[in-house]
Amino acid sequence: MKYTVNEQGYYGDFGGAYIPEMLYPNVEELRQQYQQIIGDAGFKSEFDQLLKDYVGRPSPLYLAKRLSEKYGANIFLKREDLNHTGSHKINNAIGQILLAQRLGKKRIIAETGAGQHGVATATVCALMGIECVVYMGEIDMERQAPNVARMKMLGATVVPATSGSKTLKDATNEAMRDWIGNPVDTHYIIGSVVGPYPYPEMVAQFQSIISLETKKQLLEQTGKELPEYVLACVGGGSNAMGMFYHFLEDEQVKLIAVEAAGKGVDSGHSAATSVLGREGILHGSRTILMQTDDGQVVEPYSISAGLDYPGIGPQHAHLHKRQRAQYVNITDDESLQAGLLLSQLEGIIPAIESAHAFAYLEKMKFEKSDNVVICLSGRGDKDLSTYIKHFGF
Ligand SMILES: *Cc1c(COP(=O)(O)O)cnc(C)c1O
Repeated sequence: MKYTVNEQGYYGDFGGAYIPEMLYPNVEELRQQYQQIIGDAGFKSEFDQLLKDYVGRPSPLYLAKRLSEKYGANIFLKREDLNHTGSHKINNAIGQILLAQRLGKKRIIAETGAGQHGVATATVCALMGIECVVYMGEIDMERQAPNVARMKMLGATVVPATSGSKTLKDATNEAMRDWIGNPVDTHYIIGSVVGPYPYPEMVAQFQSIISLETKKQLLEQTGKELPEYVLACVGGGSNAMGMFYHFLEDEQVKLIAVEAAGKGVDSGHSAATSVLGREGILHGSRTILMQTDDGQVVEPYSISAGLDYPGIGPQHAHLHKRQRAQYVNITDDESLQAGLLLSQLEGIIPAIESAHAFAYLEKMKFEKSDNVVICLSGRGDKDLSTYIKHFGF
């Protein structure tokens, strides 16, 4: 178990809970209770039932024939884009709302950048009839008006964060402040494998359904449980962690994590954390993040909002340092091109986040017999205007 978390909440040198004193009781309550709650048979059966009947799982594992022909390998797509609400984020949101109920919480808060996590959170709050408050940077609210409307329609209150750069970082600060002020009745749903322990571990466990299903489906379809390669895009890293989870100890499976290079790694407009980042503290955990020499977080950039994040989760930092997974990067233009290719070869328009993983196929060399699994983390409807602008449709 070289790659999993230890008793103290660390993955090797990374992880832990670096939080203000006033948040300690909230995080400590979670830490003490979550393993027992999610290990309980009643929790598991409700989680599984909702994943099946509400989310639509298991998501298919689809052998993409024309894509396979092009790249000379058997390429399988794990179809998280077919989930209710259109991405993998719902897996974690369902897990955390069930946890919040069992902790006796009456109110949910979340922060969101592009609005994807906010929508997933508002969705599960509507499902359970629980009050939902989503913090969002004022500038992001303007840029992502349709997602703001979705959250409101689902019954959530969207609170603009008006300090600093008025984006995700400021929304996160507002959510933290709320949680400190409401420790008893409120649960904070974090949307990726980031934040103080136990969040990275908890979110990875909820997303691990992706690789659990994949192993079974591969065995059925190919007679072998293990593929040669597994690929996923990385923002904070939750779809990748879910996709890698049950393959971590199978060292012969090559894991490839694809970050956003933005306009190029050296352009000053990038989110390629593993290349540009150094060790430090971000959002309550020790990890790798993009920072200046005096420790200021560098503003990241990617055309895809979900990958526009200055760090990676602590478990990814560990997998990177131990070289269990290979961290690579893809530019805006390469990802858009890969999105177009998948659309026209397979009839599937991917989220631009997911398209980053597909773009990396161009840079790989395969044997004909190789089995390759790519996590198709989300559908591209939300990105249509970006595709239109780029290709001039
Ligand atoms: C949010 C998002 C991502 C990035 O988040 P991770 O935590 O890195 O998975 C990737 N793909 C889609 C479709 C998303 O919505």
